[in-house]
Amino acid sequence: MTRAAMTPEKDAEYRAALNTALEAGSKVLREGGSSLDAVQAAITVLENDPHFNAGRGAVFTYNGTNELDAAIMDGKTRAAGAIAGVTHTKNPILLARAVMEKSPHVFLSGAGAEEFAREQGVEQVDPDWFATPERWRQLQELKAKKLGWFDVDLKYGTVGAVAVDGEGHVAAGTSTGGLTGKRWGRIGDSPLIGAGTYADDRACAVSATGAGEFFIREGVAHEICARMRFTGENAQKAADTVIAEVGALGGDGGVIVVTPKGEAVFSFSTPGMYRARANSKGLHEVAIFKDEALAKH
Ligand code: ASP
Repeated sequence: MTRAAMTPEKDAEYRAALNTALEAGSKVLREGGSSLDAVQAAITVLENDPHFNAGRGAVFTYNGTNELDAAIMDGKTRAAGAIAGVTHTKNPILLARAVMEKSPHVFLSGAGAEEFAREQGVEQVDPDWFATPERWRQLQELKAKKLGWFDVDLKYGTVGAVAVDGEGHVAAGTSTGGLTGKRWGRIGDSPLIGAGTYADDRACAVSATGAGEFFIREGVAHEICARMRFTGENAQKAADTVIAEVGALGGDGGVIVVTPKGEAVFSFSTPGMYRARANSKGLHEVAIFKDEALAKH
């Protein structure tokens, strides 16, 4: 994700998409809704947008399918729901929410997750819905070049949202197609509670993107919350420290973090990360590249 690789048209498209998602989440909060509903609203927009590696526009597996992972967590109760490897669920984040609220479980996978989706009336679609020519091209490129599994240019676009509502409750959600060319039922960090997604009113809410295997080994999202609770670090310091530790393991990526007091921070080791944030005091920012300075607040 470098300026050189981005055309002005694409740049504008991504910023518009981020803006639409930011507005969808903000609207929920403006109208007095919960952080959980705000996170869900923002992620649903991004899943339906083919620019991002989640829902429609998800990357292809090695075998040419789209297998989707998602998670959502409520910082107030630490209730959580997650799904992995679904192939027909239009909005995986809605299924994660249903797992949290309508099942006694936290994490469902594959055919069983979709059986539950049908029982719950979560919208199912033909797998063609997820497939886009650009992601197919990326799979062919990966195969032709025999690229490594963690080639950053081919795996961007996992989506996530974190929010804090008027009552000071935080929530986090993440949705992804995973890595281009993934095989053998591989699952990344995104749907793993504590790795790619975590929310705890005692600390913060976190959603991550990056080379999932490293984020799993670091337990990134929980680790950031734990550092805040046990060391007294602020959100930025805790996030920077944990992203640096992921880097030391060999992994790149980033996180979005929000605290019950309303701080919203980013930390990432890549040249850019699609990101946006807003608050009730008029902050409204969209950014892509690392050198875009965001306002202090
Ligand atoms: N973290 C995701 C995964 O490993 C991929 C990504 O964020 O791009 O599945």
